[in-house]
Order: sequence, then structure tokens, then C-alpha cells
Amino acid sequence: MAGLQETGVGALGLWPRIRKDPAMLEPRPHLVDYAAVRASFSWEKARAALSGLPGGGLNIAHEAVHRHAQGPRAQKTALRWIGKDGSRHEFSYAQLSAEARRFASALRSLGAAEGERVFLLLGRVPELYVAMFGALSAKAVVSPLFSAFGPEPIATRIGMGQGAVLITTPELYRRKVEGIRANLPSLRHVVLVERAGEAEPVAGTIRWSELVSGASPDFAVPPTDAEDLALLHFTSGTTGRPKGAVHVHGAVLTHYVTGLYALDLHEEDIFWCTADPGWVTGTSYGVIAPLVHGVINLVVEAEFDAQSWYGILASEKVTVWYTAPTAIRMMMKLGAEAVRGYDLSALRFMASVGEPLNPEGVMFGVEAFGRPFHDNWWQTETGGIMIANFAAMDVKPGSMGRPLPGIEAAIVRREPDGSVTQIEEPMVEGELALKKGWPSMFRGYLGEEERYRKCFADDWYLTGDLAKKDEEGYFWFVGRADDVIKSAGHLIGPFEVESALMEHPAVAEAAVIGKPDPIVGEVVKAFVALKPGFAASEELRRDLLGHARKRLGPAVAPKEIDFRDNLPRTRSGKIMRRLLKARELGLPEGDLSTLESDERPVAQGPAAGPLPAENRPGDRP
Ligand code: ATP
Ligand code: MG
Repeated sequence: MAGLQETGVGALGLWPRIRKDPAMLEPRPHLVDYAAVRASFSWEKARAALSGLPGGGLNIAHEAVHRHAQGPRAQKTALRWIGKDGSRHEFSYAQLSAEARRFASALRSLGAAEGERVFLLLGRVPELYVAMFGALSAKAVVSPLFSAFGPEPIATRIGMGQGAVLITTPELYRRKVEGIRANLPSLRHVVLVERAGEAEPVAGTIRWSELVSGASPDFAVPPTDAEDLALLHFTSGTTGRPKGAVHVHGAVLTHYVTGLYALDLHEEDIFWCTADPGWVTGTSYGVIAPLVHGVINLVVEAEFDAQSWYGILASEKVTVWYTAPTAIRMMMKLGAEAVRGYDLSALRFMASVGEPLNPEGVMFGVEAFGRPFHDNWWQTETGGIMIANFAAMDVKPGSMGRPLPGIEAAIVRREPDGSVTQIEEPMVEGELALKKGWPSMFRGYLGEEERYRKCFADDWYLTGDLAKKDEEGYFWFVGRADDVIKSAGHLIGPFEVESALMEHPAVAEAAVIGKPDPIVGEVVKAFVALKPGFAASEELRRDLLGHARKRLGPAVAPKEIDFRDNLPRTRSGKIMRRLLKARELGLPEGDLSTLESDERPVAQGPAAGPLPAENRPGDRP
């Protein structure tokens, strides 16, 4: 990674800045004077906004739920749940607290000790939230798994995490767990959340209703140190085999601070995070941060569907919405017109995370919703948002924004002796690094001590992402270190090339890779999925190549373009460039446990398109 340099054309910089006037924003954002807030910020001072346990110490469940249940928010709605069938359920903070305490007692009755791992394999059902806060109250370590995982990824994760208890449903148990249970010696108990009509007992399992009905809601959260382990999250597997990142109870301070500054949560907000708690975003922001702030947290059980999402935003009067580029790209396919007719006047802030958000995506927000999507950057390892576009700050489309108060981010170069040097010069590429020590920093990779140690050098955590920083301190994502393309002495970031392709009216999605070339080292190859109404043709290919050359210059523009119906992506919605590359080069495909949709060359005709659920590779036993 030595010798990084800026690559020629700044396609992203051509987009106009979106100016903000903080005086016009209602309610007044928590972060207006960025420099002043940063200068006066300290984690110790921020800690005063949390209560701490009665005897001292910090427990996530106490900060998110129990303390509100004992105060003026007791009867306020904590979770507003909308089921797949349209049914609704509201949990007040007091109810959620009582249910969680009851579940904590139940866990104890099963003999689950502090520090033992409790896995959750549930869709977004109310019991997921009860179980998560119950287990955290009991100081178990919680690991939520995405419910669409197949048996193999489930077995790997429970095995790696030495899961003692699994909470799932009868249906998921029969389809995915029963067959692998014999291989999971650590798993002592399986609790099944049954629905009406599922009364049949299942051998070797315990019914949720029976377990909790006799349990006491008087459970007292034991003393919890901020450094006690709380959560185990597996990464998305975009670059290789997923890693298990462990987090501590003290992470809740990051959840609070980022909810305040990056999501700008206010007491009266109705907040909707569309991510599933099986991924870190869905836990940190779909469960914990909004409740720490005492707002109404909307939970939608159903999967993505643009029209029903617009309907929910309107009818639920969502004020702050946190989603992902993969969903935004799907909405873009339908066009801004699809949003017309919905009353979205309550919506005041929209944010995105998970992948780079192309300028086109930021501007789609303006066109369709009258406000930009605010990109922010973080990782499973960081536990919370690290770099963000804040409500009161000008947006430069294509930039991930600026570091949160309390977070020091830098662009660095790794030296051969293992040390790192900060690159001070603006807009020079290097690795994105964070100064160690923020509260939600991961405390290890499960069973991979050496790999964890290698993430740190001097006082820095090295993220594995490449970025650059401009004169105003805005960070610009370049690509993952693994995905960067080296061509004729240039280092080319895939994001810049993909963003330029996305500007073309026919392009719905783009992914680029480096393809070995004897003369220039690597050439840029692009894979493109088209918007509805556009068909792949030689003429379109030439047009796209021409557009990219004009926008990026011949050194950076793709030399080859292939059309695809779909691009391969992880179940958390990220494009898997490594798989495109492995297939292009005929190399082994590597770990596919998180692969969701698969690519299909357009030439395959009408049979192409999304695979039926049972054929998805990730679901294979
Ligand atoms: P794995 O580590 O297993 O390969 P992953 O890195 O995709 O998977 P996550 O922790 O879910 O797993 O994702 C974090 C990564 O996602 C970041 O390191 C970055 O590459 C990408 N990412 C997240 N948000 C953004 C963003 N706003 N802009 C650009 N990239 C982002
Ligand atoms: Mg990663």
C-alpha cells in the first residue's frame, strides 16, 4: 500500500455542494458549530448523559431500557412494531423493561451464566428485542444472526462463538438447526418462539411461552463493568471469511453520542433504521441507540419493498430514517416519481451506511424527498458511526463527511517497519485510520488474536479502507484496500469509477474490478446492471465506455464492460467485488456464507433474475 497517490480526475468533486443553513433547521440540530463541539468534547463529559447502574458500572440494557422505565418515559412507546401481516404492537419502555427482566430471570433458570453466549436467530419479531435486552441484563453475550442464513453459516457462527443458548422459531429450527445440532456440543438450550397454531412441542427444545411465563420480572441487573463483553457481531464477509468482532457494554456511550450528533435524535422523533439486527447497524441503531435516546423506535418486520416503505414513512410520520445504499439504488430504479403522492412532511433527516453512497444517490434524496441522504461511515469493528455528514453541515455529494466529536480519523501510510505515518497533504490517498480508544472499539476478533493485533499500529486502528481527506476535513472513500486497482502506475479507486458510471441514465448499479494485464498491470473492468427499460447492446456498451472516458479520462475509465441482471451481493446488501474478480479470473470463489443475490449474465435470457429463495447459495445446507 506504499506510495499511494491521487488518481487524476476527481469525478466526485464535480458535484455541487449542498449548502445548509442551520438557522432554518427545526428542531435545532445538536451539532451546529462543529469545531467548537469537537474542541470541548470528551468521552468523560459525554458519560454524564448516561445514568450508570445504581452501584456504578455501565450496562447497555439499563441505559437503553430500564432507566427510562423508572423515569418520566416509562409509559412512552419504546418499540412500535409493524408485522408482515400489518398487525401492530406497541411496547412502552416500562413493558419492554419488565419483559426483558423476565427473560433475564428465565435465562438464569436455564443456568446461563454471565459471559455465556446467547444467539438470536429470529426475524424482526418483538421477542428479538426482549431477548436481546434480557440477555444483556443478565450479562450474557448476545450474538444476533441474520435469519436468512442457511444451516452452514449458522453452525459456523454458533460453533465459533461457543453458543450456549439459541433463541429461534419452530420453523427456523426445523429448517436450519435441527440437522446441525449434533455438531454443536456447546449448545445446551434451544428456545422456540412459537406463534398461535404452533403448539406442537419440538423434541429437545423449550417453548418461549413456558419459559417466560413462570419467570420473575424482578430481575436486578448485576454489577456490570464498562469493559464486560456484551455483543458478538460477525462482519459481512465482503472481503473474505466473516470475522467475529466482540464489543463491550461501554459501547453504549458511542451509541448515545452518535445518536445525538450523527443521527440528530430529539425526544419527539420517530426513528426508523431499516437494517436487520443480524448486522451491526441493525443492533447499534435498530435497537440500542434510539432507545438510549428515549425516542420511538419503529420496527418493520417485512423486507424491502419501495412502495410499502414510502407508505410507512408517510403513515408512521417517520422523522429520522437510516437506510443503506443498496435500498437507495433500488428506489432509484423506480425513479423519484414513485415517491410523489406520499405525504413525507414529517421526515427531516435521512442517513445511509454500509457501502459508498454515490453522489447520484445523495442527489436522488434531494430529487425524491427534498433532502439529501447523509452518508456516514463505520464498520462492525468500530461498533458505531465514526465519520458522518451532520444535519447542520454542508454536504459534498460523494463524501462520507467528517469524524464524530471524540473520534480522531486520519489518512496514513504503513511503513515497512510496521509504523504508520500520517499523510497531511489534502486529497492524497492512504489508509483510513482511527486513533484507538473510543468506547465502542471492538475488543477482539473471536479466536483470531494475531489478526486483531495486526489491525493496530502505534496508536492507530487501521481500517483496511482507503480514503482521502480534503482541505475542510471531509473524508472521501476510495475503496477497500483489497479492491484498489493498480493500472499503469495509477492507483484507481473503484468508487470513483462506479460513481461516474452511475451518472449514466441507463445504469442502476455498477461494480469495477482490476483485471490482470501484461502491459499496464491491471485494467479496469466494469460490471453493470441496467435500469428497467434499458436493454444491453453493443451500442450501449460503447456509449457507456465513451461516457466513462469523458468523465474519468482514459487512464481511469474501464476498458471492458459486461452487463449483468444482478450483481453478487452479501446478505447485508454489499456488492461482492471479490467474487466478480474470482469468477473473471477463474479463481476459487472463497467463503460464500453471506452471499445473497447472485449475478447472472444478461445473455441468459428470461430465466435469469433473482434466484428462488431455496436455491440461494447462502441457504444451502
Ligand atoms: P468483511 O470485513 O467481512 O469483509 P465488511 O467489511 O463489508 O465485511 P462490515 O463491517 O459490515 O463488513 O462493513 C464495513 C465496511 O463497509 C467498511 O469497512 C467499508 O468498506 C464499507 N462501508 C461502510 N459504510 C461505508 C460508507 N459510508 N462509505 C464507504 N464504504 C462504507
Ligand atoms: Mg470489514
